[in-house]
Amino acid sequence: MPKLYLLLGGNLGDRPLYLSQAREQIAAQIGLIVQSSALYETAAWGKTDQPAFLNQVLEVQTTLSPEQVLQGINQIEQELGRIRQEHWGARVIDIDILFYDQLILQTQRLTIPHPQLHLRRFTLLPLNEIAPHLLHPVLNLQITQLLRDCPDKLPVHLYVSATD
Ligand code: ADP
Ligand code: MG
Repeated sequence: MPKLYLLLGGNLGDRPLYLSQAREQIAAQIGLIVQSSALYETAAWGKTDQPAFLNQVLEVQTTLSPEQVLQGINQIEQELGRIRQEHWGARVIDIDILFYDQLILQTQRLTIPHPQLHLRRFTLLPLNEIAPHLLHPVLNLQITQLLRDCPDKLPVHLYVSATD
């Protein structure tokens, strides 16, 4: 069964609650969550005058195609009340596809592996926690190596909450 890696992120409202609702919906609509990283907190990237983000990476077993996964995550984002506003703007939940097995795909709607994953510590750190030896099929490097070489210096902190 295809192995999918998803990045969850949000920086509005009760952030851990939105992440946990997203996990529930992913389990119901996309597939079994076989691994989940801890939550990590990062100052907003790109557009810095907004609240800090919480991020988490999940490994999911799915029978859906990449296009179906994209449809599913868009639907979950909408259900959880994401308001599509400015690019990189504040949002309650963003779900991105990082990897779909070793698939390399580039269409108008979908780029897999996610084109920015190797440039962002907030993606690599949680990914490294659950899949350090996963190979990036385009760059031909493992996650640990990508993390070591990552130019992004924004600090990413392990986030500890009472409920999660
Ligand atoms: P971003 O995630 O860059 O902050 P959005 O969540 O609004 O922005 O995504 C914009 C579009 O990116 C989506 O509608 C989707 O079609 C496209 N997209 C391309 N590749 C991916 C991917 N790997 N995962 C998720 N969305 C992707
Ligand atoms: Mg997105």
